[in-house]
Amino acid sequence: MKITRITTYRVPPRWMFLKIETDEGIVGWGEPVLEGRAKTVEAAVHEMSEYLIGQDPARINDLWQVLYRAGFYRGGGILMSAIAGIDQALWDIKGKALGVPVYQLLGGLVRDRVKTYSWVGGDRPADIIRDIQARVDVGFDTFKMNGCEELAVIDNSRAIDAAVRKVAEIREAFGNKIEFGLDFHGRVTAPMARVLIKELEPYRPLFIEEPVLAEQAEYYPKLAAQTHIPLAAGERMYSRFEFKNVLAAGGLSILQPDLSHAGGITECMKIASMAEAYDVALAPHCPLGPIALAACLQVDFVSWNAFIQEQSMGIHYNKGGEVLDYVLNKADFALENGHIKPFTKPGLGVELDEALIIERSKNAPDWRNPLWRHADGSVAEW
Ligand SMILES: [Mg+2]
Repeated sequence: MKITRITTYRVPPRWMFLKIETDEGIVGWGEPVLEGRAKTVEAAVHEMSEYLIGQDPARINDLWQVLYRAGFYRGGGILMSAIAGIDQALWDIKGKALGVPVYQLLGGLVRDRVKTYSWVGGDRPADIIRDIQARVDVGFDTFKMNGCEELAVIDNSRAIDAAVRKVAEIREAFGNKIEFGLDFHGRVTAPMARVLIKELEPYRPLFIEEPVLAEQAEYYPKLAAQTHIPLAAGERMYSRFEFKNVLAAGGLSILQPDLSHAGGITECMKIASMAEAYDVALAPHCPLGPIALAACLQVDFVSWNAFIQEQSMGIHYNKGGEVLDYVLNKADFALENGHIKPFTKPGLGVELDEALIIERSKNAPDWRNPLWRHADGSVAEW
């Protein structure tokens, strides 16, 4: 089998789908995207296609190494997202060629279903209690929300109180019937993270995500030493070489590699195994589309340390397009009490509505995250 053509479709709300065609008629799909930089990743995918056209798609390990190593410069969100989507599509082709789901090729299931969690509250939570209740009503019991709005490098007690009050209200309303992770979203500096984590501890969040930015990773072990709340990070780390450093340094209890940012299934399987060796849990990051989610699930279903899966159905980012819009086999994505079962179709298990993808790609928005500024005019982390 030979790869004959590579096509990209940027689609609403902020995603990109990749189609790899072969001379035997088998087609694989991937989702290479870095939110807000889709066009840059698209250029990288097409630049990489010269290493792929005419090659045997079955040699995923070799093609991965070619894409990673042949360019001399490597790593980072753009290049690793491009590789990630290509890798997903190659696994999709392999599964379809052999007539089995990808998880069978990775050694088979270690669980029968995986818990998912639901985002609530958006960027600036208003009526979060109502949001949570609506999702409890359809079976979810685990949630994630932003832990705070923008915080200054050193902020005041009013800002801390506002963040803590929201979390206190949620615990008061729902008690232990729900669990929630708090995403600091890289908005919090190391000095403020110390304060905020301490104040939030009584409300027992399931985890605190990106307590500081990935580029301040040296603070993860220091923050972990002051708290018993599990710390999570990984959506802005792009290869096992970056995860190696945080695992060796300690501090994180949960790794959150993104299957569309960190080199795809091939790389994230290795990251998952490294995490298991350090007794660290896995919770792949996925505020993206259906192919990215399907790729995450392949890893969750073969990784013993995977404990929960993010998914973006109903997330505040999905303006103009939803996870299931482009999916034909919608029933396979059905959540039962917040859990999802392994897909049974070959490859990644997603059947896509290509006509709709083509149609919507014609006017795809070029999404950007908001640019926030502090009261004094300086740039704030979003
Ligand atoms: Mg996050």
